[in-house]
Amino acid sequence: MPFHYDKDSDGIVTLTMDMSGSANVMNTEYQELMGDAVSKLEGDDITGVIITSAKKTFFAGGDLNVLIAIMPENASQALEGVEELKSQLRRLEKLGKPVVAAINGSALGGGFEIALASHRRIVLNDNSIRVGLPEATLGLLPGGGGVTRMVRLLGVQKALPLLMEGKQLRPERALQAGIVHQVVETREELISEARAWIKANPAPTQPWDVQGAGVPDLKFGDPNSYGLLAAAPAVLSKKSHGVYPAPEKIMATAVEGAYVDFDTALKIEGRYFVELASGQVSKNMITAFWFNLNEVNGRASSTGKRVAKLGVLGAGMMGAGIAEVSAKAGIEVVLKDVTLEAAEKGAGGLEGVKPTDSDSDLAGCDLIIEAVFENRELKNKVLGAAESQALPDAVIASNTSTLPITGLATAVPDAERFIGLHFFSPVPKMRLVEIIRGEKTSEETLQRALDYVRQIGKTPIVVNDSRGFYTSRTFGTYVIEAISMLAEGVAPALIENVAKKSGMAVGPLAVSDEVTLSLQLKIHDQTVADDPSLVSDSAAYDLIREMVGLGRAGKSTGAGFYEYPEGGRKFLWPELATRYVKADAGVSEQDVRDRLLFVQALETVRCLDEGVLTSVADANIGSIFGFGFAPWSGGTLQFINSYGVQAFVERADYLADTYGERFRPPVSLRERDKF
Ligand code: NAD
Repeated sequence: MPFHYDKDSDGIVTLTMDMSGSANVMNTEYQELMGDAVSKLEGDDITGVIITSAKKTFFAGGDLNVLIAIMPENASQALEGVEELKSQLRRLEKLGKPVVAAINGSALGGGFEIALASHRRIVLNDNSIRVGLPEATLGLLPGGGGVTRMVRLLGVQKALPLLMEGKQLRPERALQAGIVHQVVETREELISEARAWIKANPAPTQPWDVQGAGVPDLKFGDPNSYGLLAAAPAVLSKKSHGVYPAPEKIMATAVEGAYVDFDTALKIEGRYFVELASGQVSKNMITAFWFNLNEVNGRASSTGKRVAKLGVLGAGMMGAGIAEVSAKAGIEVVLKDVTLEAAEKGAGGLEGVKPTDSDSDLAGCDLIIEAVFENRELKNKVLGAAESQALPDAVIASNTSTLPITGLATAVPDAERFIGLHFFSPVPKMRLVEIIRGEKTSEETLQRALDYVRQIGKTPIVVNDSRGFYTSRTFGTYVIEAISMLAEGVAPALIENVAKKSGMAVGPLAVSDEVTLSLQLKIHDQTVADDPSLVSDSAAYDLIREMVGLGRAGKSTGAGFYEYPEGGRKFLWPELATRYVKADAGVSEQDVRDRLLFVQALETVRCLDEGVLTSVADANIGSIFGFGFAPWSGGTLQFINSYGVQAFVERADYLADTYGERFRPPVSLRERDKF
């Protein structure tokens, strides 16, 4: 039986969850097993219960295959399932006997809800263990009593941030936060402490079942409570930006539930849960952050090789970041720059990083990553020199963001070992690496690049060679679309605000300043020189040229679309409005929003058509983690799915008729049902 029921001579039952499959999850199998176990406990003469797991994790949470299938038409059935699940946990905590969760591995989502329904939560202090309720990160709320119990345990002020951000905590942090009672160092202690607690507490009551208990910091007639409620919408809009329904429903569950009894509060929670689960945003987020993410992270590796010694060429912003994350993953790193001084500055005294100005220190490297200035001749030179020092079968990579990999590969004698490893800035924070396969890159080289990305704990997407690859090319359309709108006379504040309200991580004009306008111009001019047919939007580039001419080339030069007052916050350059804004620009807010999002989604479809992208998962994950495409949408292609492909095509045709052919949907899209 996959829930082992072992009663010892003291009458203590150990219930060991061991469901079929690699982890314990909440599904119909669980419902039956837990139902049977609770009935058996109710009918048995026992002293107490220890709940633990036979798996590596304690309990993985909801079964996302089940959750993603909840639709408005089967919502009432889903609600019944949730109610049953909660009533089982309610019976467990009202057995009249002590129930202890002996948390031997991560307990997330539904797993932590089981723990919350236990009278005591003891956690093993292991580095890999996390506990908490991450549902909000998938567009959901904890619907197995999680919101209701957390709010009554901690009060709304402490519970809401944990719930709305879906925080996963290490054992010690969970103890500090007050969501577990005890942390122990060994598995033996986990069980012995559970037994000791059971013996010392023969008839415990949950805090919410104590007479007169409610939500600690929300009480009728208490002025502090009203103060909290008044501040709530501001907290909310900061977290949800108006596009994430989960934080809104979590707050509604908490506040509405605060003024009713516990069981009614559970019912309110269930209703909001089903509303979220049957809605589109949770489907988008589950698709991206679960299915797509697992797909890209789970790419099979065939080499089993690990990088032992890495050479990084160029100790600037990117090179220093690459050296840092690699050294922290235990790789020996040599960081080379033109002068020892520059290399030392980049190395920052970090353990495991040897700064140098000499190619001979690269001897024995099994991976080289080049991150010098974006200049083809310079890259050729440093790559050739480094390759001759490295091991004969070393992988040679470039972190270029714009130069095609196939061309750069000619710098080394063996193009099969050459590949693109495109990191994002700031390297320690950004989890994506875009791996670019050149025309001659071998499968073995690709696999070793994947191994390395996994070794440093980042998420890889794999794309084929193209100018700007996938991420820079697609993100570029977002920035240029915004500047085109400015050139048409749309107010810059409207563009920036609509972009952020639609869920983009950064406003397009702000990011344009970060990248610097002169660099964009340089890339554009190079592209036109190489192939004039590749660039269409000259009005945007005329505007950029004018800004650069005015001495406003971006943040690093002290001025761009924004002003950067010393010690103050940046603000949009007031003269932008007088120079460019036209009262009759005639672009509605809805059109601004759709132009910014559609232009990226359409470029992604073209990347797929051209074979730059080879999977939907790469597109969605690359867009969210690489350039901050609205996470609520599930990524550029999931955005089209959730819009409905045919509706998207119609809307794109309208945008093409009104604003230009770049919005015309490719034929491949007209023929698709979904991605
Ligand atoms: P950077 O200007 O900060 O650093 C470049 C470094 O290369 C400097 O320290 C310079 O001294 C060094 N260098 C120059 N010639 C050298 C030589 N012969 N040998 C060794 N070192 C030499 O530039 P960065 O922002 O770190 O960008 C580096 C590369 O990464 C570029 O190809 C860029 O396109 C790419 N990239 C940048 C970003 C970003 O956001 N900045 C993102 C992705 C990729």
